[in-house]
Amino acid sequence: MTIRRSVDLHTHSDASDGSLPAAEVVRLAERQRLAAIALTDHDTTAAVPAARQEARQYPQLKFVAGIEISAMFSHGTLHILGLGIDETHAEFQRVIAELQEARRQRNPRMIAKLQAMGLAVGMDDVEAAMDQYQAEKTVGAAAQRIIGRLHIALALLKKGYVHSRQQAFDRYLGEGRPAYVDKERLRPRDAIAAIRAAGGIAVLAHPAQLKFQNFAQMDRIVRDLVHAGLEGIEAYHSDHNPALTRMCLDLARRLGLMVSGGSDFHGCGKPHVQLGHPRVPLAVVDERFRQRLGM
Ligand code: AMP
Ligand code: ZN
Ligand code: FE
Ligand code: FE
Repeated sequence: MTIRRSVDLHTHSDASDGSLPAAEVVRLAERQRLAAIALTDHDTTAAVPAARQEARQYPQLKFVAGIEISAMFSHGTLHILGLGIDETHAEFQRVIAELQEARRQRNPRMIAKLQAMGLAVGMDDVEAAMDQYQAEKTVGAAAQRIIGRLHIALALLKKGYVHSRQQAFDRYLGEGRPAYVDKERLRPRDAIAAIRAAGGIAVLAHPAQLKFQNFAQMDRIVRDLVHAGLEGIEAYHSDHNPALTRMCLDLARRLGLMVSGGSDFHGCGKPHVQLGHPRVPLAVVDERFRQRLGM
């Protein structure tokens, strides 16, 4: 039996905008001989039971129940990961049900904007594109899954309005672009509180996406989040270069934050991102973190 030395604590399944069923994500983690895998779908824990069930077959792979929540932020993107949550926590489910409802309101508004621009695309096209992208449909009806901009981008691609997903964001769906509609978000403090109340560890996801101007600004943003209850930082991520990872490790040390890391795997939704990459050594994951998650 070889000792497993790396983890991936940020992945998506077809319960949100990944392309693979959660059980398949867990199988990939086992095939990579990871020590731990966290499933962190956007605004839902619908696939957590299936992932946990699959992971029972692999005694050397620790499964971590998680979620990724988008929080309010003046510029750039602020995502908070909840790692090790109890997904049966009633108040937590009530909070994320509100986020899911907010998405149900938002998607038709983005579609309406696209239609007003003369693009013949409807929610039925989005669901059709989604069915094609997430071919195995283990989470059940499309209505139970999280529908987001990635799925709308796939519909635009399928209908030939754009020649790449990236172009769909650049032209229509990205923040500040004409079909963009902001979604109802939690304040960072509330997202963090909901995660912690459900027994999870609140971790700042991909600090690269905060789009900070300089280190001092990043430092300030993260300090404010620590005051709001943040407990960890994702130092390793597929969007991070080694310099940014070092910056995050340094910040974690100074602010007493736990270190985390993951790929942000989306299956073929982000073809350049592979499960288990970048490699996140188990040894860098904080001892407190490992204890709480049983790694
Ligand atoms: P949503 O949660 O519906 O706002 O959609 C977020 C998803 O859209 C994430 O998975 C991102 O990967 C993707 N996304 C957001 N902005 C961009 C962008 N500018 N280019 C490409 N993908 C993006
Ligand atoms: Zn995503
Ligand atoms: Fe994210
Ligand atoms: Fe993510």
